[in-house]
Amino acid sequence: MVSDNDRTSGYYNQKLETLSPDERADYLNSELQKIVLHAYDNAPAINKKFIKADIKPDQIKSVQDLEKVPITHKHELSSLQQEHPPFGGFLGVPFSRLKRICMSPGPIYEPEDKESKNDRWTQAFFAAGLRKGDIGQITFSYHLVPPAFWFEDALHRLGCTATPGGVGNTDQQVRMMHDLKVTGYIGTPSFLVNVAEKAREAGYDLKKDLSLAVGFVAGEMLEESLRDNLEASFGMLIRQGYGTADVGCMGYECFHKSGMHFPYNCIVEIVDPETGKQLGPGETGEIVTTVFDEVYPMIRFGTGDLSYYTDEPCPCGRTTGRIIKILGRTDQVTKVKGMFIHPSAADKVTEAFPEVDCYQVVVTREGHVDKMTFLIELKEGVEGTGELAERIESRIPDCMRVRGNVEFIARGTLSEDDKKIEDMRKWN
Ligand SMILES: [Zn+2]
Repeated sequence: MVSDNDRTSGYYNQKLETLSPDERADYLNSELQKIVLHAYDNAPAINKKFIKADIKPDQIKSVQDLEKVPITHKHELSSLQQEHPPFGGFLGVPFSRLKRICMSPGPIYEPEDKESKNDRWTQAFFAAGLRKGDIGQITFSYHLVPPAFWFEDALHRLGCTATPGGVGNTDQQVRMMHDLKVTGYIGTPSFLVNVAEKAREAGYDLKKDLSLAVGFVAGEMLEESLRDNLEASFGMLIRQGYGTADVGCMGYECFHKSGMHFPYNCIVEIVDPETGKQLGPGETGEIVTTVFDEVYPMIRFGTGDLSYYTDEPCPCGRTTGRIIKILGRTDQVTKVKGMFIHPSAADKVTEAFPEVDCYQVVVTREGHVDKMTFLIELKEGVEGTGELAERIESRIPDCMRVRGNVEFIARGTLSEDDKKIEDMRKWN
């Protein structure tokens, strides 16, 4: 097993992972100033955005100053690209510098640099435990979309070898893992479940006949119970990363599973989805990212994903902030008493109670105060006692960070079309 503090490999500038807060601010602010100037001069969409907001590049000197820049939302990209094909005015270099152009659903086209210095996935793979000499099987698609290519690049930068499994063909992929003694798995958690199943069917012992030691998973939520299960079955470590096809890697876990570290060379803000203002540690908001990428310089790209972050020290020594958890999408949130609530948080409340059949959260306003009520249908034969209501109510603030009431309603009142969270407030 490799040491999690071994940061002497020289695969990338690992010193930048452990900067002090002041050093980090200086580094990020200086990189930010460079990319803003470059984007303003070379990417027409960024130039237009700055002029429209009446800001000049020299007004953006620090991460705090980014609040002045309007957010470009992921859902806008497809229409922007249709208006100004193919890249919506975000291309910051001559076309001839492009190594590859991918297409993600939307459609959204993503340009990739021949001279790319982007090592953010490399940082992620290193943190997961991949090292020189490892053989990594990439089970993401090699058609149209960029991740498989990025992950190959990351493996190569670490001195690893790639086996391009792609999507499906599970039997052959298992065979490949066995025959080539593949040590790394790169894919979704659910495909690894398929691998386990097919390997067992083929008569393999997951630990003795396969050599998997490190798994890097992305693209899906990773349930902790599934991680534990897969780690135990294969005798491997599984760490996850977070990113999108537009901006690449925005977070990755280290050995300590303490959230997902921001790569050192990008800026991740958590902002109020309504105002675009930056939020502090622990506050829930949208993940907005700025990447130092000359080819496709996204300045304040709004992912539409909701999360919160911490800047507490991590035992691994990296001093970058960490996204704790992806909570859902901003288009599904409702603000109650100043807190953003999401259907997945409401699910967390009721999950703990087998008595609950289905529910709906209704948000109302009494005077100037928001009121949140869980309307709950109980399973056949369960009585809606005051004691049960109290137990559910006591769990609400733990999961949603606001208080709420419970009301039991007759079975069959709610239909499948009802929204999980219904906002009944009338705004004047
Ligand atoms: Zn860490």
